[in-house]
Amino acid sequence: TSEKMYCIGCGAELQTEDKTKPGYVQNSTLKKYQEDDSRELFCKRCFRLRNYNEITDVDISDDDFLKLLDSIAQKDGLIVNVIDIFDYEGSVIPGLQRFVGDKDILVVGNKVDLLPKSVNQNRLLNWLQQKSKENGIKSVNQVMVSAEKGTNIDKLMRLIEKYRNGKDVYVVGTTNTGKSTLINKIISQNSDVKDLITTSRFPGTTLDRIDIPLDDGKSLIDTPGIIHKYQLAHFLNDEDLKTVTPKKPLRPATFQLRDGQTIFVAGLARFDFLDEKTNVVFYVNQNLLLHRTKTINAEEFYQKHLGEMLTPPSDVEEFPTLKKEEFIAHDRSDIVIYGLGWVTIPAGSKVRVYVPDGVSVSIRDAII
Ligand code: GDP
Repeated sequence: TSEKMYCIGCGAELQTEDKTKPGYVQNSTLKKYQEDDSRELFCKRCFRLRNYNEITDVDISDDDFLKLLDSIAQKDGLIVNVIDIFDYEGSVIPGLQRFVGDKDILVVGNKVDLLPKSVNQNRLLNWLQQKSKENGIKSVNQVMVSAEKGTNIDKLMRLIEKYRNGKDVYVVGTTNTGKSTLINKIISQNSDVKDLITTSRFPGTTLDRIDIPLDDGKSLIDTPGIIHKYQLAHFLNDEDLKTVTPKKPLRPATFQLRDGQTIFVAGLARFDFLDEKTNVVFYVNQNLLLHRTKTINAEEFYQKHLGEMLTPPSDVEEFPTLKKEEFIAHDRSDIVIYGLGWVTIPAGSKVRVYVPDGVSVSIRDAII
């Protein structure tokens, strides 16, 4: 039949084409329903939520995302913005403040478990505050959490209580920041909440939202994320992405460099250190090759070994050429390549960085 059907949980139009979009059901589920229409038909996402208390993310278009932010702008409430601290540029939503109006934004830096223990948490919080400011986000506060390990979730909940002033809470973030993991953690740590979760249609859009009830009758509302297109992840296949993404705390790798030396981070990035002598410390996933060579040989070396010794990337054809940018550190600093990690360089040192065109690099005060 060509009759449109809707999920009775979230109201999304049911479809069997795309798992990543709202309203997805398997063909077999749909068939069973058509044979016996006394059954209740939920989309896969609502089904998982009702049966396993598990939130799964749906992908939406930029356009729908703007509509979503616009509908939030018209409501009263606190915005909780989840950021991946390993991929700030890939997870920040430029213009967020403008889209949501004068609402308060609480910035949550997720995946803190991946940082070495020696990280100065205050510097990291300052950095997050600074980055928020640069992106026009007037954050009322910031907190570092690990959604996966459950670190600082109670602190986050206290901050939410403090800033929401009895209003609803909207959790926003791009995909892959760990927003679903975070919400699942919140649900599992508040056992009384589990049975009360509802899904309901997001007014004015075709998007569904998930409401988690708070004590005073207000809700914590999960919203779908959007994908950023200029993340490092965009240039890599799944296999390569696994090699790049850390699963355990980063371990420092120290190099003592003399005049004219270069370090390759696999085939993904190249650092030419321009000082006579310098000590640098790399913080990237342990699985990634750090290879030292003379700068005069670096170009030839890269051309020769890209996709072989220098992998990832394993797919050289699709990989963009590297673009260079120079940095001078006034104080002890980190050169950050979003989605990859960083290298700490001493005050006064100069470095030329090569990364795939479209991937962002920036400098910050050293966090260790
Ligand atoms: P969403 O798209 O924002 O909902 O993100 P997900 O919750 O699906 O998480 C994206 C990826 O980040 C998954 O591979 C998670 O395992 C991982 N992840 C989420 N939270 C954490 C965390 O606190 N620490 C670490 N190391 N990984 C996390």
